[in-house]
Amino acid sequence: MGLPFQRGRRPTTEEEDQEARARKRQRWEAWLVVEKRIEAHWREVEEFMNRPSYGVPASKWAIVRLYMPRWCDLTRGEHRCAICLEDLEPRDRMRMMPCRHSFHQRCIFKWLQINRLCPICQFALPSDEEQRLLDEKAAKP
Ligand SMILES: [Zn+2]
Ligand SMILES: [Zn+2]
Repeated sequence: MGLPFQRGRRPTTEEEDQEARARKRQRWEAWLVVEKRIEAHWREVEEFMNRPSYGVPASKWAIVRLYMPRWCDLTRGEHRCAICLEDLEPRDRMRMMPCRHSFHQRCIFKWLQINRLCPICQFALPSDEEQRLLDEKAAKP
């Protein structure tokens, strides 16, 4: 049995090998975790970018022309605003998308200025550009 410092300093080659292999494996495993995180990150970015029209605001005209539903226009079971998650009340100002989903006016107006898709079913209101084309088409005899 040698002195303690000798044991520490002069391990057998096999011990050295094992230690080196273990370190290598640890580094590799750590890298795999990082790599998975990077992969997941890029997948999220890609999904985000591929979502149709994300971040395209609706045309202001399309927004203000949204139908103002009366209480009786709401479909049964749809008395909750999907944006603020609060109940719609008969006295609230509401707007209905062409897909027949209704929201508080203040909520859907704010939403559509950022994103023209219906928060429930992704129905797309026209963007400024599309609205211009639609108006041009409508103006033609
Ligand atoms: Zn709301
Ligand atoms: Zn909808």
